[in-house]
Amino acid sequence: MTSKNILCNGQAFEEYIFENEPYYVPTGNEIEIFTAAYKNNLPVNLKGPTGCGKTRFMEYMAYHLNRPLITVACHEDLTATDLIGRFIIKGGDVEWNDGPLTKAVKNGAICYLDEVVEARTDTLVVIHPLTDERRILPIDKQGIVLKAKPEFMLSISYNPGYQSVIKDLKQSTRQRFIAIEFNYPSMNTETQIVAHESGVSQNTAHSLVEIGHRIRNFKQHGLEEGISTRLLIYAGKLINEGIAPNTACRSAMIEPITDDFDLQMSISEIISAVL
Ligand code: ADP
Repeated sequence: MTSKNILCNGQAFEEYIFENEPYYVPTGNEIEIFTAAYKNNLPVNLKGPTGCGKTRFMEYMAYHLNRPLITVACHEDLTATDLIGRFIIKGGDVEWNDGPLTKAVKNGAICYLDEVVEARTDTLVVIHPLTDERRILPIDKQGIVLKAKPEFMLSISYNPGYQSVIKDLKQSTRQRFIAIEFNYPSMNTETQIVAHESGVSQNTAHSLVEIGHRIRNFKQHGLEEGISTRLLIYAGKLINEGIAPNTACRSAMIEPITDDFDLQMSISEIISAVL
C-alpha cells in the first residue's frame, strides 16, 4: 500500500492509493452490493458499530475498483468550506485550495465521510446535489458548478448505536444512500481476522474472540457498545509482545470499554473463565 497523508485547510484528511490488496474477509454480500452501487453511481451508507471493519472494507473496495480513497473523519466543527475548499493567501497571491470533496469530484476518487452523523446538518447539505442524478458540486466561492467524474463515488459511515434525538442523520440525507449493514463477524471469521492481524495463534485468537462474543452479550446489561474487532486485535498484539494474556485483556478489553466497577468485575470473570 502506498499512502500519503495530506493536511488541507488546516483540516486533516487522508488520501490513499492502494498498490497491494488490503486484507479483508467478507462477512456477507457487501462486496457485491457495493460493486453494483458503484457501477450505477449510487452513494452508499455503511451502517454499523465502531471497529467492525467498515474502513477496511472501503480500502478493499477502493483497491478493487482501482480508485483513490479520500477519507474525511467528520466532527462537529467540520464546515462545508472544509469539505469544498477555500481561497488562501500564499506569497502575496490569493490561491484556491480544493477541499477533500472537491478533490474527489475532480479526480474521480471515492470520498468516504466517516462518522457522518458528527457533522452538522448544514455541512451535510453540500453533499445532496452529489447524491442524486445531477452529481454536481456547486462551489459558490468560485462561482462554478463542478460535474463529478463518472468514477466519483460518495460513501458515508454511520453508527446507529450512537443515535440520539440530537445526533441523528436526517431522513432527507439518509434516504439519498443505499445502506449496507455491518456487524461483528461470526466467531470463525473473527478468529481468522484476529489471528491474521495480531499474529497470535488460531487458538489464542479463538479465546479472544470467545471472550469478545460473551462480552457483547452484556450490551443489554449496561454496556454502551459491544467490544470491537479492533480491540480484540489490540489484545492479540499485546499478547504477541509477551504481555501476560490476563493483563493484555484488561488493557484492551476491559478498561477501554467501561469505567463501571461492577461491569469490569463481570468481564474480568469471563476472561478468567476462558483463558
Ligand atoms: P470501522 O471503520 O468499522 O470502525 P475498521 O475497518 O477500522 O473499523 O476495523 C478495525 C480493524 O478490524 C481493522 O483495522 C482490521 O484489522 C479489522 N477488521 C475488522 N473487520 C475485518 C474484516 N472483515 N476483514 C479484515 N479485517 C477486519
